[in-house]
Amino acid sequence: SVYLDYNATTPMRPAALKATYEALTAVGNASSIHHPGRDAATRVDKARRQVAELLNCSPGELIFTSGATEANNLALQAAYAQSGCIITSAVEHPAVLETARALTGDAPGRLAILPVGSEGQIGLNAFRSALQQGGVALVSIMLANNETGVIVDLVPVIEAAHLAGALVHTDATQYVGRLPLDLGDLDVDLLSLSAHKFGGPQGVGALFIRRNTPLTQRPLVFGGGHERGWRAGTLNVPGIAGMGAAAEAVHRQLDDEAPRITKLRDLLEGELLAQLPGSHVNGAAAPRLPGVTSISFPGVPADALLAAMPDVAASDGSACSAGAPSPSHVLVAMGLSREDADSTIRFSLGYATTEQEIRRAVEATVGAVTSVHTAMYPTDS
Ligand code: PMP
Repeated sequence: SVYLDYNATTPMRPAALKATYEALTAVGNASSIHHPGRDAATRVDKARRQVAELLNCSPGELIFTSGATEANNLALQAAYAQSGCIITSAVEHPAVLETARALTGDAPGRLAILPVGSEGQIGLNAFRSALQQGGVALVSIMLANNETGVIVDLVPVIEAAHLAGALVHTDATQYVGRLPLDLGDLDVDLLSLSAHKFGGPQGVGALFIRRNTPLTQRPLVFGGGHERGWRAGTLNVPGIAGMGAAAEAVHRQLDDEAPRITKLRDLLEGELLAQLPGSHVNGAAAPRLPGVTSISFPGVPADALLAAMPDVAASDGSACSAGAPSPSHVLVAMGLSREDADSTIRFSLGYATTEQEIRRAVEATVGAVTSVHTAMYPTDS
């Protein structure tokens, strides 16, 4: 089948598989002082350097976690323990939105959820007026959206937030490994990432905490003080080693991968829009990640559509909230009707996607839209 669901998860890169396997077949707890323990610690140190190089930060600024969900929880809890207000956006992943709701009790004056425009963009004026309410402890706004790929221009957000004395966290889960990211330039205080979105294993991620950021250290998991007290528990050495190797591979290949993937995404979009009049791309006018396209086929429910194209693995809404009957909160925030949101497919491409796969996906999608449409509206044609 054709796998076009890289935003849900990616196939492991060969180097990541190798590093994970090697760590799995070795013995050693990274906290033990004997030779096998030091060997495990060496793998972790190496991975921390590899991830730091990808992001251009220092290895000591990274805490390994079980993924971006945990990193987001940790970041928001640490920054919010100072109390005050959290500003976030309507299109965040549930791992940010639900955490912000839980921490603030969703109380007015404690949580501001910014609306977005029709292209998924944050309005700077709305943001500035939320800041002016005062008492803002934390701004958490994603770098790129998982459903549409829309990229947020965070620079003015960071500048205004810092001027107001607020910390800035970004959920960069979908951005890392898809476009170059330089933490020397992007002045966020906290940033979350996840290995399985860029060719590493599932169940491992990291939180970047910029040096000297004033935080309340309150771990989510209490215990033996691993990760400088931020995250107790025996380190997931195989996962961490795989994440490091994936980061190194991405670092080397990104400059080639990003334009190649953009071209394939544009081919997919161009063909579908041309062959299926009435379809439209969500966030098309905004800057977007290379490999993502969210396409609405009005009148054609996404679940029926996906069932009619079993050879293509794509997503209706986001896999993260799979099973949820409600329409995508992201698309609704961008102004789509419930019906159009429910008639939307997300295709996400990645480093192993080929042109032949895109051509197969186009053919399958056009066939499926046509057959579902004909079944639903038999008199139309
Ligand atoms: N944030 C975003 C934007 C995501 O796309 C995802 C993955 N669906 C997450 C957070 C959660 O990441 P993880 O699977 O590592 O918990």
